[in-house]
Amino acid sequence: MLKKAAELIQTSNYTVAFTGAGISVESGIPPFRGPNGLWSKYNPEILDMDFFLNHPDISWKYIKEIFYDYMYNAKPNIAHYCLAKLENLGKLKGIITQNIDNLHQDAGSKNVIEFHGTTKKLECIKCKTKYDSNKISLDKLPPICPKCGGILKPDFVFFSEPIPKEAFEKSIELAQKCDLMIIIGTTGEIMPASQIPYLAKENDAKIIEINPDKSTYTNTITNIYLPLKATKACEKLQKLLI
Ligand code: ZN
Repeated sequence: MLKKAAELIQTSNYTVAFTGAGISVESGIPPFRGPNGLWSKYNPEILDMDFFLNHPDISWKYIKEIFYDYMYNAKPNIAHYCLAKLENLGKLKGIITQNIDNLHQDAGSKNVIEFHGTTKKLECIKCKTKYDSNKISLDKLPPICPKCGGILKPDFVFFSEPIPKEAFEKSIELAQKCDLMIIIGTTGEIMPASQIPYLAKENDAKIIEINPDKSTYTNTITNIYLPLKATKACEKLQKLLI
């Protein structure tokens, strides 16, 4: 199966990767869902827009703890680097990621579409100015817009918030363009992101799936299933490809 997957990557003209929490778990970033996921320890209401607007200090206390004190210094792993190398070699045209950790860019990937936004920027809820999050002090919470005094919110998608328009449109464009989509570390539970591989399939793309456990994609649209962790699969593929 690994050889077949490598062949498919070699012979495809427009390959796109679609990644999720599973690729970053091995960089020490816990997933949101599942028995050891963040929502087993934290109340998801901290990322609810209404709750945030009413209690920005409480939301921010936990947001800082999870996304800025803890996750912020995570480093890319071999799977992130492998995708960056493939892009460099012209074998990968882009990545659609559901992750907000910037690890694809840290690994050197250029064409990365952040479907759910990023922790690396903060946006003022009043004047919409965006700031690099490392330039804003989180000593006093909630952080305040230096321009207008509005509350700053992390520039990632909260519950009940729409997907950023540009990311949404670019994702659809890539899904329709690609002739091969590599699904890595995502089981397809989060709407509407989960629909992207189906869209690729409708447009006749082949699907390689890398997930240690079967997902909603495995028996529906996947052509080649590699039941491996992201780092293991990428390490093996890289040997065959590069
Ligand atoms: Zn502002």
